[in-house]
Amino acid sequence: GRPILAIVGRPNVGKSTLFNRIAGKRISIVEDEPGVTRDRIYAEGEWLNNYFNMIDTGGIEPNSEDIILSQMRTQAEIAIETADVILFMVDGKEGLTSTDREVANMLRKSNRKVILVANKVDSHTPPNTIYEFYELGLSEPIMISASHGYGIGDLLDEVISNF
Ligand code: GDP
Ligand code: MG
Repeated sequence: GRPILAIVGRPNVGKSTLFNRIAGKRISIVEDEPGVTRDRIYAEGEWLNNYFNMIDTGGIEPNSEDIILSQMRTQAEIAIETADVILFMVDGKEGLTSTDREVANMLRKSNRKVILVANKVDSHTPPNTIYEFYELGLSEPIMISASHGYGIGDLLDEVISNF
């Protein structure tokens, strides 16, 4: 079948904004059980005639700080189980958080290809916080602005080169 790209990251980093920008017309929400946080959203993506399936693992937005980390672990597990390439999104404005570190550790231990993406880099000058992400031991962060559409082409070039 088509290669699968999963998008993983903390709530509010911009996963769904990127997902919607890349997505084709067919977006479907898969709900396992009401109130269960394994909900995923699927869509088709295409770049330069390369077709792939995309999963937004974000699910329900948590309303409590306490459950964010456990949700993140579940997200990462889903991505590791199912994806060929995992796009790990961090917030380039906010900088590195302890939750980012935890998830990065999980992803690094998997055998999946992980692409680190720093979102919300809305201007040409990268914020100083960008250097914090190098300590995650992943690839160099690809800087994008999902809402403005900057850097998406370079990101998708990197994605399809890893399928
Ligand atoms: P998710 O929870 O990771 O799916 O994040 P969303 O896609 O729902 O976005 C969370 C918030 O960040 C929304 O208010 C978006 O408009 C905003 N956002 C997303 N991408 C960008 C970006 O590139 N720059 C800025 N400044 N805001 C963004
Ligand atoms: Mg979302």
